[in-house]
Amino acid sequence: MPVTLDYNKCDNAPACVGVRVCPTNAMTYDYSASKPVIDESLCVDCNVCVQYCPHAAIEVAQA
Ligand code: SF4
Repeated sequence: MPVTLDYNKCDNAPACVGVRVCPTNAMTYDYSASKPVIDESLCVDCNVCVQYCPHAAIEVAQA
């Protein structure tokens, strides 16, 4: 399952560490929406972003 973003925890900053560490560019910053977004079709469930997010805003989706 792709990861999910909890926007109540996310600071929605363009300097999102998840965007920087994602190896597949599944996580990108949506400047029109002013928040990071995840393209589920590109996510490979590596959980790197989960480990690096300083706000614990990225969660492994439950099946
Ligand atoms: S789990 Fe891996 S591939 Fe998916 S958004 Fe996070 S860093 Fe990118």
